[in-house]
Amino acid sequence: MRRQRPTLIAVSTLIAVTLTTAATPANAHNAAPPDQVTALTAHQADGYTTLAWQPVDGATDYQIERTPVDADNTPTGTPTIVGIWRPNRQINQQAPTFADAGYNPGDTFQWRVRARTGTTEQPYSEPVTATTTAPWGNPTTPGEHLRTGWETTHAAQYTSDTDEYAYTAAIDALSDRVRVVELGRTVQNRPINMLVIGHPTPAATPQAVAATAPVAINCNVHGNEPGDREACLIMARQLAFSTDPRITDLLSHTTVLIVPTINGDGRANNTRGNSTGQDLNRDYSLIRQPETTAYITMVRDYRPVAGYDGHEFGNSRAGDLPMLPPRHQNVAQPIFDQSQDMIEGHMYAKGAEAGWWACPYGCEGGGNVGLSEETILRNTLGLKNVTNSLLELRSSGGQTRPDEGNTANNRRRKTYSALWTFHQFLDYHRADRADILKARSEAIETQAANTGRLVFRGSRPIPAHPAPHPGDSPPPLDAPPADLILDTPPCAYKLTDAQYNGARTDGPGGIGTTVAQRIAAHGWKVITIGDEHYVPLNQPERGLIPLLLDGKGVEKLTDGERVYPTLTGRRNGPLTVTGFTCADDATINGPVTVRAGAALVTTATTISGPLTATSAAGILLADSTINGPVRIATTDTISIIDATIAGPVDLSGNTTGTDAPVLAGTTIRGPLNCTANSATPTNLGIANTVHGPRTSQCAAL
Ligand SMILES: [Zn+2]
Repeated sequence: MRRQRPTLIAVSTLIAVTLTTAATPANAHNAAPPDQVTALTAHQADGYTTLAWQPVDGATDYQIERTPVDADNTPTGTPTIVGIWRPNRQINQQAPTFADAGYNPGDTFQWRVRARTGTTEQPYSEPVTATTTAPWGNPTTPGEHLRTGWETTHAAQYTSDTDEYAYTAAIDALSDRVRVVELGRTVQNRPINMLVIGHPTPAATPQAVAATAPVAINCNVHGNEPGDREACLIMARQLAFSTDPRITDLLSHTTVLIVPTINGDGRANNTRGNSTGQDLNRDYSLIRQPETTAYITMVRDYRPVAGYDGHEFGNSRAGDLPMLPPRHQNVAQPIFDQSQDMIEGHMYAKGAEAGWWACPYGCEGGGNVGLSEETILRNTLGLKNVTNSLLELRSSGGQTRPDEGNTANNRRRKTYSALWTFHQFLDYHRADRADILKARSEAIETQAANTGRLVFRGSRPIPAHPAPHPGDSPPPLDAPPADLILDTPPCAYKLTDAQYNGARTDGPGGIGTTVAQRIAAHGWKVITIGDEHYVPLNQPERGLIPLLLDGKGVEKLTDGERVYPTLTGRRNGPLTVTGFTCADDATINGPVTVRAGAALVTTATTISGPLTATSAAGILLADSTINGPVRIATTDTISIIDATIAGPVDLSGNTTGTDAPVLAGTTIRGPLNCTANSATPTNLGIANTVHGPRTSQCAAL
């Protein structure tokens, strides 16, 4: 906003030229000393100001000075160096920018920037004065008027649990775009809420939301790292009430899932872990705790295709926004690549425009961080074929943000840098949705093919980004040790009934859910024959299953028995399947009949002849070809992924309970009919190609 323009004001030894957000006129520089910063501009955004200037030849770094001023441009406080711009800060060195944050939004400031050559300070630029952007939302417009406890206390206090519940309930009540759902309860019985946000209204059911290729933000897993949570709460208000076409466009094309506080007990007590002391970000695979169970169950039901996980990082030398993709080597390559594209391709480039210093976790002197534990959400989500990143907010100001000894200013910088990141995340999903979905489809098909080695711990390397950005220390190599590699994957793991249904004591208070319940929460298919339970690997989460069920698993649930394929190579004549039969790299010339109570699991297998199963325990086909009709009836477990079927396909009367039959990424040369199945078959968001009519329950597959 423009204020009344004053006359000349002396600041230091310079004469202030009064400006708002416009660049200094070119003719003002005619007499500028050669080492003086010129063309300084200040662009206002939510909670931060992007300062940009012409670089000075030979500059070692730049100092950013901020001075509070009143409406007449008269200083009301001391000029303070609030930022140091260093060359490792950004890509695109020829257009330096700095995101100044850590002030009370809405206040008016004057900025100047000067270069340093070595330790020699060059002249300051001419100043730029502007009023910063006030907290989002018209205070007199219903909904927009809402403010968090953190905002109303000017960052003196974080938003409390009761404030959060009241604030999100008010958003829910006042916005058609928002539905608040309770995902579960913490150990101490605090609700774990999620905002489901879409335009004009969010899709009605988890399955309908899943069809919109949703994105998920986990805002606060470590209770003593609250900066991201405040950003999430502010963004929820913006998404709920903004009339900005960008926002309504975003929400018309996807659903935004925001979980402000998975760890409400830890937040209330300002502890990293939950009330039992468990670090929840070391529990997303094991899901011993109700908090992590709630989140993983949400991922199963809502099927987000992309995610961010918010943290703070206690390293004052790091960048503003350390990020990291899922690195575990069992994550499918397309998911790793897409996540890296989001981070290095999008966030580094946009960060250089906005002035935020995004970098790989570790960033500069970061130490032994960012490894391959599948218990970490970043890796768990990658193993669930979700493009995603860790986000760390540098917890202290450090040398490059020297004003942040002021606690409120430090908190503001963290929160508004997270707000910027989450908005960029939504923009990335909007722009790259097709690529994200392609990566997910390829990843699911790759995983279900069950080929290649399994690694129990070990990361993909994160190469240093070309110098000078973003610093000297990408995360450690973290290569898998030889004893944590299994070169030949089994077909399945067999669990005894005691392993599967037995009581566990690894949860809070000695009360644990069973392996069966945890597998169900992950959404894996299980074939039960008598009192034996088989978990096949030809499933979308193939990379995660062995980490929990193999004896080599570093943090496993149980020692399942490896089951290897019994049917390989060429076989002629009719085949009747009894018991649990696994075919890999097999060619079966003849009809295949799966007996009642039996199961067939295939990968890289061709069957020439009809495939018929009635009242079978399970049929899981992946990366296979059936030259003939497929009829599966009254069967308990069904998954067909990336298959080619020459002939009609009929799925009828299958009673899989809530575990829907999967038919995904499959080409069918013939009609597809699905009748009287409970539940209705799903394609996991990967369309099938059907050269014939699709009828009844499969009409939309
Ligand atoms: Zn953390």
